Amino acid sequence: MFMNEPVEFSQITNAPAHICQFMGAEKPAHADEPDKRFLDYMKLKCSENYKKRALIYNPDAVGMWLFKKYEELFKPVIDKIEIQLPVKSVYPSKTPVCFASMYSGVNPDIHGIKGYVKPVLTVETIFDTLSKANIRVAIAAVEKSSMSIIFSGRSIDYYIRNDDEAVIMKALELIENDSCDCLIVYNQEYDDTMHRTQPESQESIDALSRHIQAFSRLCEAAGRYWSQYETLVAFLPDHGVHLSDDGKGTHGADIPEDMEIMHFYGVYCPENHNVK
Ligand SMILES: [Zn+2]
Repeated sequence: MFMNEPVEFSQITNAPAHICQFMGAEKPAHADEPDKRFLDYMKLKCSENYKKRALIYNPDAVGMWLFKKYEELFKPVIDKIEIQLPVKSVYPSKTPVCFASMYSGVNPDIHGIKGYVKPVLTVETIFDTLSKANIRVAIAAVEKSSMSIIFSGRSIDYYIRNDDEAVIMKALELIENDSCDCLIVYNQEYDDTMHRTQPESQESIDALSRHIQAFSRLCEAAGRYWSQYETLVAFLPDHGVHLSDDGKGTHGADIPEDMEIMHFYGVYCPENHNVK
């Protein structure tokens, strides 16, 4: 890409259509259409012949600028995926607002979460349409997080654990035992740490590395235990982060640091699982 070429942003509200289309389910009512770049990629990779699995990893607060600045650190993610979509999140760029849009496909005015509050979402989400299509969905998330609360009450499995590592251990077990068809995994250590310190403190960068490693471990498990399926793997952060006037990490503003994220997707096919 040339330096001055404008970035063509996808919207965070495109994500539900990507996941649902891959899994062969309807997208949620009123959800945005998929991004053409994702559809083109799917056309290239996917076949009707295989059953599907999906592994969606949601690391909290991993902004686009972090990826650009620490690209070398993200190599284990890049090695596991094939396309990168620059994405604009929604305002206010706070966790429950963004995840509500990421999984319903509609803007905050429609889904109703417009700040740091965690009601159970009433609009249709992928958790409704996937389960209606008899697709087994599981959410593995840290307790009290937005992801562990706002999608409650659906016909899916919830695995709520004390911390990121316990979430990852459970997720690895679910993949190994083939206990679900679509697995959503939420981790929050980077967000916790940058709020307490700074976006680029050593502690925060260490936490970010653990998210990258976690995704890599999950993809390796998917490659090994889901090898007979066509598997979508995705690394989908909710929003970015910036350094606030009080010297700590924060987010929620309508600025590129908070609103711009990168979404990473790959599809593993049974014929070439070994390459991953
Ligand atoms: Zn946060």
